Amino acid sequence: KEQPEPLSRDDVTHYLADKIVLEGAPPLSKQWVLFADNEQVFSRAQQASAATVIFSLTHTEEINSLAKRVHSLRRSRGNGLKIVIREMKTSLRYSDERLLLACGVNAIVPSTAPMSRFLTTLEGLQGLQFSRHVPGNLDALISALQPLQQKGYLRLDAFCLAVSQLMSNTLLPENDKGLLVALRPVPELKTEQILTLCKPRRYGDLVTTLDDRVYLFLSSCRFNDLDTALTFIFSLPHDQLFANRVLWFEDHQILAEVGKIKNVVPDSLREMPLLMESTTVEKITTGATRMPLRRIPQPVSLNLEGKRR
Ligand code: C2E
Ligand code: C2E
Repeated sequence: KEQPEPLSRDDVTHYLADKIVLEGAPPLSKQWVLFADNEQVFSRAQQASAATVIFSLTHTEEINSLAKRVHSLRRSRGNGLKIVIREMKTSLRYSDERLLLACGVNAIVPSTAPMSRFLTTLEGLQGLQFSRHVPGNLDALISALQPLQQKGYLRLDAFCLAVSQLMSNTLLPENDKGLLVALRPVPELKTEQILTLCKPRRYGDLVTTLDDRVYLFLSSCRFNDLDTALTFIFSLPHDQLFANRVLWFEDHQILAEVGKIKNVVPDSLREMPLLMESTTVEKITTGATRMPLRRIPQPVSLNLEGKRR
């Protein structure tokens, strides 16, 4: 069996690739070296300086190990390498792409791109130098780019806190962290009924209610994908559930809205007697009780100025 030529620093025209990225085709020229898997590509690329290094991505479970390999190559072998990932069957989430790019990938070729488009992408990278900064601490990078470890219903204050914290993460791209949407149910439906139809699936997708509105925060979801996400999250068509919606997608808009709603006293509390045990108030604010609220007569005393205490 012919041994591939040893790589020198002058490897700028070389391609080191997992063989499955060529879909069964033989090496396209003498410049191409194919390997049985990503691990072998990685170990050979540790001696490369300016070659094009191509990994495959077949299952989403491979994302973290691929992120480690890319990060290690970029940090140790420098900015001359052209590192490419070709999605094979799977479709990466936008948040996964962001992680891989932050680790030092030059390009991710989607599974929908045919071979010809893949090869043109490789061509387009020739002569280019990677120029973004890649932070040294991979664990910190991965944990900063993970979605929030919460999903589903949160009471209003916890919802506002979680969204504000996410907005302050400077490793996430500005104005591209997710969508905040306020949905007003059609008159026939109450927010409590809407909650039973709302099943957020991804970590980082949060929901809360305020008076007659349902607020959703959709992590790493882009403006154009709102309808797709809502279709998955609600078990009935969302245009039949909601009379209108308001959407915020820029960081400052989201922060302003969250800052506004976190101080709003829900209508349900405004109707309550002014003096009430704090535990009862908390239960109502949290929505932890779904029991009809019973109004309890409360003693009221007046001070000398005639104000209620
Ligand atoms: P898709 O299912 O057509 O979703 C398109 C985009 O809608 C997603 O892009 C995302 O921005 C948004 N989206 C859809 N569902 C949700 C959701 O439940 N929560 C949030 N926050 N956003 C949602 P994204 O993330 O780049 O994903 C791209 C494609 O990758 C998806 O297209 C889907 O084909 C695939 N994918 C991503 N995650 C999964 C998964 O957990 N399971 C499966 N089977 N496919 C997935
Ligand atoms: P998860 O993030 O909790 O998502 C749970 C389920 O929600 C997924 O099960 C899938 O049925 C659905 N789902 C979430 N987002 C999308 C989306 O954008 N499009 C579509 N079509 N469906 C979506 P599934 O597919 O069996 O995945 C199970 C778990 O595997 C996921 O749990 C997640 O932890 C992981 N996973 C699957 N695909 C991806 C991916 O593209 N990226 C990442 N980071 N994780 C993924």
